[in-house]
Amino acid sequence: MEIIVGKTSGFCNGVRNTIQKAAEIIDREEDKIYCLGQIVHNERVIQSLEKKGMITKNEINEIPKNVKVIIRAHGEEKEVFDEATKKNIEVYDLTCGKVKAIRIKVSKKKDDYFIVIIGKKNHPETRGVQSFAGKDSFILENEEDIKELKDKFMNSSKKEIYIVSQTTFNNQKFDVLANKIKEQITNNIVIDKTICDATEKRQNETEELSKKVDKMIIVGGKNSSNTKELEVVSKKNCKNTYLIQDVNDLKEIKMNSKDKIGIMAGASTPEIVVEEIISYLEEKY
Ligand code: SF4
Repeated sequence: MEIIVGKTSGFCNGVRNTIQKAAEIIDREEDKIYCLGQIVHNERVIQSLEKKGMITKNEINEIPKNVKVIIRAHGEEKEVFDEATKKNIEVYDLTCGKVKAIRIKVSKKKDDYFIVIIGKKNHPETRGVQSFAGKDSFILENEEDIKELKDKFMNSSKKEIYIVSQTTFNNQKFDVLANKIKEQITNNIVIDKTICDATEKRQNETEELSKKVDKMIIVGGKNSSNTKELEVVSKKNCKNTYLIQDVNDLKEIKMNSKDKIGIMAGASTPEIVVEEIISYLEEKY
């Protein structure tokens, strides 16, 4: 069996930075450290930090007053930061710098533009960015949402649209949706494609790799947006694409010792998970 692992596979700098800083904070602080939501979309990473003492809670209401809280890599909504201040919570904001940069952009543009965030509607990153974009804003996920966006834009006082993207959104789908806005709503748009370069490089490499192999293994959390996008990109060229969380999922998939296998891991997948997959494949086939 030949195995090719993508060069861009695994932790991006933002995720690596957030995990490292969280571990340092937990080691350094004597008080309990809470994390609001999943620190990154990977169970293994969460469990290892929870073993060190981190306590994950899904809502700010579940976190007591006067404690210390980590804000995850995807960021949080503005209201959450406001609520934390009210509860005298000390916040360690470990939001990736690239996500913070989008929040700053939309905050600056919101008085002059209607803000459109192209991305997943229920993702913490897009909800967080929208909370800094004011009421004249919209998260656009699919073509079916264009009519609702048009109505909302027409009913606002704004004459121009400023478009940004979720950092891990599909590159080609972004272009399609941005063009639809131009064709169906207005020409007065500024397109600021804020897809992270780490995402773009990984999607491009996945596309190339999926053309050369018999089977593609995409590794990452099932609720990880960037991992799901890799599956979509890969399936275009390689119908034998499998999205797995770890080596246990692989045991259910039939392989052949003559197969050429491509492996690409999402941005929040630890290296050890990929190493375990390679060891399993090398031993079995
Ligand atoms: S994918 Fe990009 S934006 Fe998202 S955490 Fe990683 S470096 Fe930051």
